[in-house]
Parts: sequence; structure tokens; C-alpha cells
Amino acid sequence: MADTSSNQMPGESTSTYNVLHNDQVGKYLVANKDLEAGEEILTELPFVVGPKTSTYPLCLSCYKPWPSSPDNQTLCTKCNWPVCNEECANAPQHCDYECSIFAGVGEKFNVNAALESENISGIPQLDCVTILRLLLASEKFPDRWNNEVKNMEAHNKKRCTTKQWATDYVNIVLYLRDRLKLTRFSEEMIHTACGILEINSHEVRTASGFSARALYPTVALMNHSCVCNTIYSVFTNDYKVQLRTTVKVPKGGELFGSYTHSLLPTLLRREQLLESKHFTCACSRCSDPTEMGTHMSSLKCNKCDNGVVVSLDSLDPESTWKCTHCDFSTPGGAIKKVFDIIYAEISSADSVTIEAGAEAIQIRENVMKKYHSVLHPRHAFLTMLRLSLSQLYGRVDEYELDDLPDVVLEHKVDMCRLLLQVLDVIVPGYSRERGMTLYELHAPLLFLARSQWTANVIDDAGVKSKMTEVANILKEATTILSLEPPETIEGQISLVANESLKQLNESIKSL
Ligand SMILES: [Zn+2]
Ligand SMILES: [Zn+2]
Ligand SMILES: [Zn+2]
Ligand SMILES: [Zn+2]
Repeated sequence: MADTSSNQMPGESTSTYNVLHNDQVGKYLVANKDLEAGEEILTELPFVVGPKTSTYPLCLSCYKPWPSSPDNQTLCTKCNWPVCNEECANAPQHCDYECSIFAGVGEKFNVNAALESENISGIPQLDCVTILRLLLASEKFPDRWNNEVKNMEAHNKKRCTTKQWATDYVNIVLYLRDRLKLTRFSEEMIHTACGILEINSHEVRTASGFSARALYPTVALMNHSCVCNTIYSVFTNDYKVQLRTTVKVPKGGELFGSYTHSLLPTLLRREQLLESKHFTCACSRCSDPTEMGTHMSSLKCNKCDNGVVVSLDSLDPESTWKCTHCDFSTPGGAIKKVFDIIYAEISSADSVTIEAGAEAIQIRENVMKKYHSVLHPRHAFLTMLRLSLSQLYGRVDEYELDDLPDVVLEHKVDMCRLLLQVLDVIVPGYSRERGMTLYELHAPLLFLARSQWTANVIDDAGVKSKMTEVANILKEATTILSLEPPETIEGQISLVANESLKQLNESIKSL
């Protein structure tokens, strides 16, 4: 994820990281001292923030879905593009960027086209906004543009053969040059801006929980690994990013980020990286057909009793998959089809949010049941379902912790423990997923210990030792989640977790 030029930027190295360069990967980051788990590596303000590609209609300032209600279709009074209110219209990210360009040529937002239902998943007119902001930022902040952004990888040579390139040409290049009369930006420069954002931008969460994308030039220098050793958090007031280690990294050790969804199986992860980031990953996880012993890609063999079906060469999507116990084998293409079908079902189940109540749980449990005889127990898809289920049990109406019978509490415990077996390997250390799962594990363990004690199944010493185990789990959860910005969901949970930990320690002392 870096340019291959040898221009050294000023102030490249800090006490925590060092920017190195080689001809294969360009620039990359290494630790400049022994780093502890959870240690801050850097903070950085974004060069640009804006809507993601193929976005729903949204406020150009705060990225909330627009209109907020059918009869409140507020438009910016200067440019006639969607905003929540006057405050959003006057916010610098809109006011100081595209607003005067749109207003200057009288280019209005096409409200009717945007609100036609078939357009809801992608408004072509909104595709240009973040690119335009990046181009305008290059003029506002020429030093930062020249030193940090201009030479970022854009992969124009690879991208120019893609369908996306042709779409970008119509929706962005021609739109900016013809409709907005911005001929001072060449076609090549606009395509490069598209590429820089596509390859290097990071997804960020807004204060109200919606997502946008932001460009962090230093964070983007990190190479990708499917088992990375860093995590980033974004502050919602100014979109400042904080990059931290998740595990210890020795001085000189490379720092890796993740540019894909870590919980996907190898076939889908590598396909996504190739399509969106234009490289083929050959990290230690991708190279291992068992995904480092997690079996996140493996299937159960239905021709024998204990066999597991794995790829013979996980770096080749066409490779044959074979059972470890019998002669059964099947082509990689057939596995890919099965994965695509199941993943589509999981994505649709995952779109049912907590607001749907009990249905959010039932739909996921049904998909789990449907495929549990096909997939390895620790398969990526079951892991994804467990991650959301572990957070739904205890939070959904009718499924609040106090309502759950012991057998459901035990189910939640089992899911969290199985999840941790996978997370400990693929997102080890101080990752949000581990922090959240440890937090979800503590409460049902505590409830179960209490009910066993009340029923005289365990004695005082037994309940004390169980509570001590819970306190250790909660302590680790608190340590991990307290590193998150306080305004985020995880940051909020860390405060609750910290209070619970204090109370728990008091109860243990008084036993
Ligand atoms: Zn707004
Ligand atoms: Zn405006
Ligand atoms: Zn990989
Ligand atoms: Zn078999």
C-alpha cells in the first residue's frame, strides 16, 4: 500500500515507528522500539473525509441518511444539496469544499432521482463528493498533498481495465470536468484521486453510528496481513485516527493493518483483496489451508465420519479440496459456489438489526442450524454469526439477561468460548472483537455461578473461584475496551465494565 518512489518525507520516523522502503512493496512501517500490546503508535488527522462509494442519500456533513423524514427534505440554501439543517450546511467539510463549486455552476442535487427506490443503494450523483474534496484539499494543503498523498498507490494500470473505471469515468471524471466545469483537474488526475481513495481510505464511524471514509496517509503506509498486529480507532469529533498495537511488537518488527474483513474465509478474503485492493495476499494465514488451525475455511466431510475437507493449495482458488480421512475430493470452484450462497444468507441475516427484537436472534440461529452439519464448527461463517449472536443474547427484548434460562446462558457461554478459540488466533491480543467477546462472556458466567450456588450445586469456595475467573475475564475486557474513544459503543461499554469489575471484586472480598 505505498508508492515506490524513493523521495523521503520529512519527519518520517518517530519514537514508535520507522518508515522503511523496498522495491517490492514500497514504503512500510516497522516498530522503532519494543512496543507493548495496546500501545499507541501514532495519531493522525485525515487528509479528507467523505461519503463512501455507492452511498445511500445522505447529509453531506454528518452522513446521516437523508431525508431524516419524508417531509423534511432540507437542502443547503446555497447549493441545494442534501443536509440535515443549517448547522450541517455551515459545517466546514461541506461549506469549505463542494458547496461553492455546486453553487457556482448551479448544479443541484436531483432529489427525485435519489428518492426513487431502485436508487437507494447507490446515488451516482454522490459518487463525486469525496473525490472532489480530495482534489480541492490538494489545492488548500499543497505541502501535505505533495509530501504525503500525491504519490500514494492508485493502481491506475490495473484499474483501467475494470468496470469500476468506466463507471468512474462517467460519474466522476466527466461529471467534474463537464458539469462542474472543473477542467483544471485533468482526466488522469481525477482517475488517480479515485484510485488513491479506493486503495488507501479507511472506513470510519460517525458520531451517530453511520459510516464514511477517510484518508490517513501514514496509516495507509502499513502493509496488509490477514492476521494483523494493529488496530485503529477514530474520534468522532474530528475523525482523528489513533493507531495502536494489538500484540507486542519487537523493535524492527513490521506493523500490519487489515484491509479486509478478518472473519471471512480465505477464498472470499483473497477475492475481496484482489478486487478492491488489487493484490493477491500470501500471508501465513492465507498460505495455510487450515487457516492456522482455526479451520475457518474447512467443511465437514459427508462421506465419512471424522473427515475435514480442506484445500490442497489455499493460494490457488482453483485447487482441489480433499477430505483428510477418505478419498472424497471436489474442485475449488464448487466450494466457492457453496461459500457464495451461504455468505449471501449470512449477510441478509446480519442486516436484521437489534431493533427487530427476537427475530434478529431467530434468523441467525436458523442459518446456524441449516449449515452446522456442512461447516467445520469453527468455520468463518459460524464465527460471524456467533459474534453477532453473542452480543444479541442479553440485549434483545425478551432475551434480556435476567430473562434467560440457564440453558440459554450456557449457550451464550459456549458461543463466546468457541468464538475466542478463533479470535485468539486471527485477531489476537487487544482487538475490539476479543474485548467485546470477553465482556459478553463474563455476565452469563456470573449468572450461572450464582444460580448454582443458590441451588447448592457449588459451595462458597466453588462460587468464589468461579467469580474470580469472571473477574479476570472482565478485567481483560476492560483493559482492551478502555483503549477505545469514550464516545464509541466500546468506550461506553468499558465504563460499564469497569464499574461491574469494582462491584465484583467487592463481592469476592466479602465472601
Ligand atoms: Zn447532517
Ligand atoms: Zn451547500
Ligand atoms: Zn492473507
Ligand atoms: Zn471424508
